[in-house]
Formats: sequence, C-alpha cells, structure tokens
Amino acid sequence: MNAPLATPRHLESYVCGRWVRGSGPGIPLLDASTGAVVALIDASGLDHAAMLDHAREKGGAALRRMTFHERALMLKAVGQALMEGKEEFYALSTATGATRSDSWIDIEGGIATLLSYASKGRRELPNARLVVEGEPEALSRDGTFSGQHVLTSLEGAAIHINAFNFPCWGMLEKIAPTLLAGLPAIVKPASQTAYLTELMVRRIVETGILPDGALQLVCGSVGNLLDLVTPQDVVTFTGSAATGRRLRAHPAVIENSVRFTMEADSLNASILGPDAGPGSEEFDLFVREAAREMTAKAGQKCTAIRRLIAPRAAIDAVAKALGERLAKTVVGNPAEEATRMGPLASLGQRDEVRGCIERLRAEAEIVSGDPADPRLASGDAEAGAFLSPVLLHCAKPLSASAVHEIEAFGPVATLMPYDTIEEAAELARRGKGSLVASVFTNDGGVAREMVGALGPWHGRILIGNRLSAKSSTGHGSPLPMLVHGGPGRAGGGEELGGMRAVKHYMQRSAIQGAPWLLTEATGRWMKGAKTRDEAEHPFRKSLAELEIGDRLVTGSRTVTLADIEHFAEFTGDTFYAHMDEEAARANPFFPGRVAHGYLIVSFAAGLFVDPAPGPVLANYGVDNLRFLTPVSPGDTLQVTLVCKAIDPRATADYGEVRWDCTVTNQDAAVVAQYDVLTLVAKTRRAAAV
Ligand code: NDP
Repeated sequence: MNAPLATPRHLESYVCGRWVRGSGPGIPLLDASTGAVVALIDASGLDHAAMLDHAREKGGAALRRMTFHERALMLKAVGQALMEGKEEFYALSTATGATRSDSWIDIEGGIATLLSYASKGRRELPNARLVVEGEPEALSRDGTFSGQHVLTSLEGAAIHINAFNFPCWGMLEKIAPTLLAGLPAIVKPASQTAYLTELMVRRIVETGILPDGALQLVCGSVGNLLDLVTPQDVVTFTGSAATGRRLRAHPAVIENSVRFTMEADSLNASILGPDAGPGSEEFDLFVREAAREMTAKAGQKCTAIRRLIAPRAAIDAVAKALGERLAKTVVGNPAEEATRMGPLASLGQRDEVRGCIERLRAEAEIVSGDPADPRLASGDAEAGAFLSPVLLHCAKPLSASAVHEIEAFGPVATLMPYDTIEEAAELARRGKGSLVASVFTNDGGVAREMVGALGPWHGRILIGNRLSAKSSTGHGSPLPMLVHGGPGRAGGGEELGGMRAVKHYMQRSAIQGAPWLLTEATGRWMKGAKTRDEAEHPFRKSLAELEIGDRLVTGSRTVTLADIEHFAEFTGDTFYAHMDEEAARANPFFPGRVAHGYLIVSFAAGLFVDPAPGPVLANYGVDNLRFLTPVSPGDTLQVTLVCKAIDPRATADYGEVRWDCTVTNQDAAVVAQYDVLTLVAKTRRAAAV
C-alpha cells in the first residue's frame, strides 16, 4: 500500500518558530505511481525578510554561543531521534516513487551523514568556537611578528535550494556541516517531493534539540528570498544547470559576493578497462554496476552513470549482458514487494526523459528497453510515471555531441566504444566536468593513467576491481568524508569531504601580530609567546588548573655509545647508522654513528614525565615528529615542554592537552621537534588521585 492520505494536506513552511500555511490555494503534488494527490504546496505570503532576520539574529547567535562539540552532540541527538522514527519516512517516501532500497539511500543515508558529521566534528574540531588552521608562520627574524590562519562562523544564514530526487539526504547532507559551522539554515526542498522533507523537519523541530531559528523551511517558491541576501549568507543549489546558472547570476548574489555552491547536471562516465574483457571479474562488476546505477532511484541520481565507455572488442558482450540484466528489472509501484524499480518522480519528469531519449537517438540507437513500453502505460499504471530502463549505443562517440551533453535524468545510459585508453579518457572529458567517473580494471597502469587523465575533470573517481567488489560503496554513492561535487558542467561546487564542508560555511582570516597576542586571540600557544614556569610539574595539574604556556624545562642527559648499543640490541634496530662507524660516516647526513631517533624520543619522555599517578591519564601519540640534528655519542639532551592547546571533551571528564616538545643539544640546536598528545582529567577528583 502507498501511504494512505485521505484528504491531501496543505504543506506548511516553518517560519520564525511557527508552522505557516501559504495564502494561496496550493498546487497538488501527485503520488509518482498512482497519481493520487499526496499534498498541496504553496508558500505565497511568507515574510522572507523576517525569516532571514530570525535565522541571523536568533538561530545564528544561539549556534555561535555553542562550541563545535556542543553542536556536534546536537546533530547526534537529532540523528538518533530521526533514526528511531525512520519507518514513518519510509512509508511516505513510497509516494515519491522510491523503492525500499532507494529510500534507504535517502533516509538512512541522510541520517548517517548527519551522524558522521556529529562524530567527525568531535574528533577533528576543537571544543571551541574558533578553528586554528595549520601551523603559525614566523614573519620576522626576531620572532616578534607571526601569522596564523583561523576560521570563524559566518553571521548570516545558509539558504539551501534542493533537488527533488533526495528529499531527506539532500537536506541532511547540507544542514550537517552548516549547523556544525555555527550557521543557521533555511531549507527549500524541490516542490515535487517536499512533503517528505516537511515531515522530517517537523520531527526535527519536535525534538526541541535545535535552537530556535537554527532551521527554517520553505515549502513552495522562495519568492524574493534571494533579493535579500547579504555578504554573510551562503546559497547552495542542487538541480538543473539552467536554474543554477540563473540563480548564480542573481544580482544580490553577485552584488554581495555571496558564496554560491552549485551541484548540477553531470554526464558521469563509467569506463571498462582494456584489461577487463568478457569473462573477467571486472567485466561482470562493470555490468552489474551499470545496471544498478541505471535502475536505483530510476536513474534519478546526480551521480548515476550516463555514459558507458568500453573497449570496442567488448561492446557487443556488454550490450548483451547489460541488456539481459535490465530486461529482468521489475518496474512498478514501489509499494509492491516484487518491484525493483519505481516510477520517475512525476509524469512531467517522464516526458522530459522521453524527450531526451528522442534527442539521443539522433546519434545512438536503442539496444535494450522501450521508452514507450506498452506494459507500463496501460491499466492501473496509466497514472504512474513508469519507464523501462533504456540502453542506447553510439557507434561514433568521438564525432557525436548529444550523447555527451544531454542528461536524461532517468534509467537511461549510452554505451560507446573506444580503441585506445587515451580515447576512453577523451570521451569521459567530453562530459565537460562531472561529479564522478568509475574505472573497472585490475591493472595498476590503467588505474594510474586514468586517475591522471580524469582527475582534472571529476570530483570523484572510483576504481572498481575484484578485491574491493564486496566492500566498495559503488559508483553512485557520495560519502560524508569524501568530496562530492565536480568541475565545469557539474556546477563547479564542492560539498561534503569531511571538515572541508564545514569550512565552506566559515570565514578564513589570516591574523598577524606578536606571538603572545596571537596566542591570546586563538587559545593556542605558538613559539615566541609567553611561557609560565612554576615549581609544580605541569603533569600534576588537572585540565582546570593548566594554562596555555605552562612550561617545563627538564634536566639534561648525555647520550653514550653504550646507550646506543643497548637500544639497538634491545629493540633489534641495528641499522648501520647506529652500529657501523665507517658506513655511518659515508652517509651524507651523519658525522659518524648516531643515536636512534626513537632513542631520543624515549630519553625525552624519561626527562619530562612525572612518574607518580596524577591527572595525566594517558599519552596517546605525537604529531609532526621531526628529527632535525643528528645526536652523536657524548651529546647532551634537554627538553622544553610547553602547554600548547587545551581541549576539554564535552561528554567526558577528561580532555586533550597538546604539548609543544622541543629537544635540544648542548649547543641549543634543535634535535627533535613534535607535539605530545596527552589525555588529562578535568579535575584532580576525576583523576581519582
Ligand atoms: P530545477 O533546477 O528546476 O529545481 C531545482 C531546485 O531549484 C528546486 O528546489 C526548485 O524549486 C528550485 N528552483 C527552481 N526555480 C527557482 C527559482 N527561480 N528560484 C529559486 N529556486 C528555484 O530542477 P528540477 O527539480 O525541475 O529538475 C530538472 C532537471 O534538473 C532534471 O531533469 C535533471 O536533469 C536535473 N537535476 C539534476 C540534479 C543533480 O543533482 N545534478 C538533481 C535534480 C535534478 P521547485 O521545485 O519549487 O521549482
């Protein structure tokens, strides 16, 4: 059964903390399979200026008061609540034409993206409101003037204009980095499937987890919203290239240099390697992936494969194997269990796709499927936007243009032959910039050549082979930790990619000044800034007692030849530079036998630790370790340890302390430089000592 909706509901927009119905009669939104009215949509009469003010002044201000970890925990709580109520979304998703597995991508894929940002935010961002990016740059010889990049939250609002094909994922993948960055969001889903986004936003609002103004929703036209954008706002768009181009050129967007991210049509290619002939595992994977990409979401995925590029000798075998697979696809109402592919989102969308197929036929012939399949256009199915998968073959793709330009946003792909690997890459490039390309090969040389040739034109490249066959996430799946977006025709935007997406909603500034002032401003110690030496060892201090700049200058220790030999025997590291005087001298880096780097690090720890139980709970690693000056027998080591950053964990009774660790020799030359990472109890009581 499709979701029973006796009387179609008027969708509402969520505006300034209230659910509001548009003032017009509403445009009916139809079930993609049955044609029944699911809901009415209209957003006329909304006060867009008030929405933006509410977002900026209420939502943004509240979000900016929170730390990254607090925002991340907020996302986690929202994600968990949505996951608990997911079945309700599945039930309604059927009306969009999505099968259970299509809906899984949209609903659980979207929630998983939210949860992934919640987790990465706590692991990769500090429990603070400002991101210190990269290392400081020394800008003067005497160490009195330095530079540092920082990121702060924008003070505007993000307007997300989304596509119809992923009403849940499309919203969640964008609001996750937005909210984590401290920016409120106004979401405008595509009308066709907005009822599902509306339901999800209702459930999010009901949790009461997000601060007022952090999330608003427009169901219907955005009216004059874009006229009102300011330099602190961000606009993202997913949809057709034509609309995207129009919005990107909106006068207020240009006038205010508003960040505009566009993700549009993409003629994604999948290439069968020259090594992967019929009978090989890669050949089978290529065919399976092509069938999956053509039929998942009825091909209405921005990342779906539109062009299949195969060695000329394998073309007939691909056409046969893929045609047989596609012919077995059961097309129908996704509410029925046997259905493997649902309808397109609307009858209008089907007309659009059929039109595209007609235009493609000027350069390619249909080898499988029938765009006017009579079984899909009669009886009960009449009102549904059903279309059988259609595979075309273009014999001369290098002299063709439509097959590289027309995106039939449905279960349609064109197969094309190549003779050389350069030709395969050239055909992929004819898409003029795509979200993703895949290459199916078990040959390292082919992989290398393809990555080099396809990289400049693609946001993502998937290499498929027998080893990753089971674990691969596939050609069409954008992942929260990897970049999604592509150059040129694909819109030129970049989304996801882990913390890259968060930074997109923040302002990067280079700050310059005296190191101690930069340390005060950023909360991160840098060389040249003030230090504080106290009688008490800093390892005796809890997180609450430690201060940035707390310093320990240790006693010294002389390294002997016996130490080096003992370490070599004990660890088994008898590398010649430590054990063979003559060979070590012949090495351009060493004056003779030298101490092991790890011996230096070990002696340094021996010099700086405070052995008794205390607030320091664990050493969990070092960052950026470099050995800068060789240590010869007879050299004397000393360590300077400075508290560089203190990052309390939001949900634990400990936090991370980063120590700047400099090991010097008797001539004050730096022997080793690194950051030591420790976990320290927030209070002495929490340390239980
Ligand atoms: P559109 O570009 O028309 O719509 C995309 C989004 O933009 C929708 O939310 C739409 O809202 C909104 N929109 C449209 N006009 C304006 C405007 N003037 N001001 C502000 N917002 C606007 O694409 P469709 O959804 O109609 O899809 C058409 C084609 O786009 C597909 O056939 C396919 O080729 C391509 N497409 C590509 C996608 C991708 O990810 N690469 C995804 C979806 C579609 P509303 O729905 O209310 O009009």
